Amino acid sequence: MTMRDRPLCPSAPLSTKARVIGVVTGQGEIAFLGKAIPVDQAFVQEARTGREPERRFRLAAPCARTGCANWAGQGCSLPERVHADLAGTVQTDRALPECGIRRQCVWYAQSGSKACQGCRFVVTRAAMGAVEQGP
Ligand code: SF4
Repeated sequence: MTMRDRPLCPSAPLSTKARVIGVVTGQGEIAFLGKAIPVDQAFVQEARTGREPERRFRLAAPCARTGCANWAGQGCSLPERVHADLAGTVQTDRALPECGIRRQCVWYAQSGSKACQGCRFVVTRAAMGAVEQGP
């Protein structure tokens, strides 16, 4: 499996391995770009001059699997946790967002469209390796 084909975590911290997949709107929801834009060193430096970059951008990067605190057993614990946290608080039958990494997304591979319904409300908290929901 090449680096290009590796499963992607859709809530990664900023790094030169990351790709921008969306931006955080003023309402705390993700506006997906429909494509994944590679991040380079210049972007990393520029993005770090402002507010915490993970609060402005949603980034995807190769999944660290057992190297990540969110990995539990055979998979990532986050899509199910996000879904449970949001239950009854947001509309979960909307059309899926146009997403540039769906074929490689670890969350989608595990939980299908349910993951995407919660994903649009996730803002990464890079410092804690965790996520929070927007609205
Ligand atoms: S969970 Fe769905 S919307 Fe979110 S990054 Fe994965 S495929 Fe895209």
